[in-house]
Amino acid sequence: MKIIGITGGKGGTGKSTITTALAYSLAKNNKVLLVDADVDCPNDHLLLNIKRKFHKFVEQRIPIWDFNTCTKCGLCGEVCKTNAIVSIKGQDPIFMKQQCNGCGSCVFKCPVNAISWNKKIIGQIFTGNNYNIDLLSGELKTNEPVSEFVVNSLNDIIDDEKDNYDYVIIDTAAGTHCPVIAALEMCDYVFTVTEPTPLGKHDLEIILQLLKRLNIDSNIVLNRSDIGNKQLITDLAKKYELKIVCEIPYSKEIVDNYSKGKPIINEQISKLLEGVTK
Ligand code: SF4
Ligand code: SF4
Repeated sequence: MKIIGITGGKGGTGKSTITTALAYSLAKNNKVLLVDADVDCPNDHLLLNIKRKFHKFVEQRIPIWDFNTCTKCGLCGEVCKTNAIVSIKGQDPIFMKQQCNGCGSCVFKCPVNAISWNKKIIGQIFTGNNYNIDLLSGELKTNEPVSEFVVNSLNDIIDDEKDNYDYVIIDTAAGTHCPVIAALEMCDYVFTVTEPTPLGKHDLEIILQLLKRLNIDSNIVLNRSDIGNKQLITDLAKKYELKIVCEIPYSKEIVDNYSKGKPIINEQISKLLEGVTK
């Protein structure tokens, strides 16, 4: 069993297109679990024409106040770094649960133990299947600030299920924030998807620095390889002693398939497969 991550420094590079194409190709001869960990905006199910089924809610802890015990000292509001508590000395604290990340500082600091724990639903996990691919898809509720809990919930399911599969493919969010790190830490190997533009180069370098720090093996997939300046990415690959393992030129057929929920079938994807299955 191998866990493969597909990531990218910036959004819109075609990360999900590459992920679903790889899953589709692998699933012809292997048991594949595809995990959409881009929980702010999951779309692998759309690209694979999968109607998702509800699996479970994801909850996050939040504080709850006992106003009979509270002495209205105002301390909980002072320690809350996300401004989820408005507390004025002499008045009951006001709590705005959408801004709470469950850090626990208020519970820990209250001198009279007037704060305990409650829960709120912050997201959902869905399942689905098509093209012989089992899908796990996480989705954060609109307006919720902490996507890491949804990614952690996906990671727990991966831990339980991974031995039932030959390959687990994780489509991470773009960027280098905590949910991306949480997803990458599960992976044996990572493909970073980029495009040959100055922005693509800039964001790729940030994700390569992160992968180096996490000590995870990676290589580069160059999407829309014939649009822009390929040398930018070639130079960066050389600097980090990595290979561009797959170059996918811009094609109208890919765009057409994308709009119809069909995975791309491209001879370049077979180069990715070689990297994964060797
Ligand atoms: S820290 Fe405790 S006692 Fe002070 S205002 Fe907050 S809940 Fe009330
Ligand atoms: S748990 Fe943390 S973020 Fe939430 S209200 Fe308390 S201090 Fe603020």
